[in-house]
Amino acid sequence: MRLIKEISQMKDYRKKIKAPQTVGLVPTMGAFHQGHLSLLRKARQQCDKVVVSVFVNPIQFGKGDDYQRYPRNLSEDISLSEKEEVDVVFAPSLEEMYPQDYSTFVQVGGPLSSTLEGASRSGHFKGVATVLIKLFNIIKPDFSYFGEKDYQQVLIVKKVVDELNLDTQIIVLPTTREKDGLALSSRNSYFDEKEREAATILYKSLKKAKEWILEGEKNSWRIILEMKKLIEKELLARIDYVAIVDPNSMEETQNIEGEVLIVLAVRISKIRLIDNVRVRRG
Ligand code: AMP
Repeated sequence: MRLIKEISQMKDYRKKIKAPQTVGLVPTMGAFHQGHLSLLRKARQQCDKVVVSVFVNPIQFGKGDDYQRYPRNLSEDISLSEKEEVDVVFAPSLEEMYPQDYSTFVQVGGPLSSTLEGASRSGHFKGVATVLIKLFNIIKPDFSYFGEKDYQQVLIVKKVVDELNLDTQIIVLPTTREKDGLALSSRNSYFDEKEREAATILYKSLKKAKEWILEGEKNSWRIILEMKKLIEKELLARIDYVAIVDPNSMEETQNIEGEVLIVLAVRISKIRLIDNVRVRRG
């Protein structure tokens, strides 16, 4: 396995891999957990060469976000990558990705980027789209692997790839969870015992909502209200948003028909978590 830190070296490596050999990319911000590993394993099964990028991307964090204290553990990520038979860990420095005079950004317009995560985290998707376009241009992956946990991000990435005519196929994998349902996240490492327990309220409320829908409740508003009541009972939790949306557009739905996505963002103490589940009626 190789550790590459320079863009020019990464490009040289890529140039030597010729079709029909395929390259899979797993873009990450590091501090690996089993969710990351599930993406690496899928890429390993499907591709001849697997590249994992590890880069904490400052431009997708807002003011007051946790960029400075975001967990970083490159040496552990490298040894986990080795175990998963990854071919390259691409871990560029900040200066390598964004030199001092850097000024080019990819702005995704439309309602998809301005609702929910887009509304709560101004500039977030611009930062995500920009770094991903850079990684796609450097690594030219045939396949790129993303987690459904960041559902809205997946829709944005698909839109960018489609609209900018990029040649990578987006593969989406289900959310890996702890036994009690908490979605794995690098941010879970911030929690003390009480907060960790409180964090289970996200999945508990999603599961309840799913049950209500499957029992026949069709009114989104009533479900959201009940979910909010449930979450507010948890003293450490502060709701950012709870919504029931069309899984293709992220537009809110009033009446539940066919497939819907229940999404939420909740702060546990100061840590902001997101999660979602999909539900199909009938
Ligand atoms: P991150 O390092 O948090 O930027 O995540 C890198 C990739 O891993 C993204 O595509 C995430 O959606 C995905 N991911 C994060 N958490 C999970 C999880 N619990 N299950 C599956 N994929 C995940």
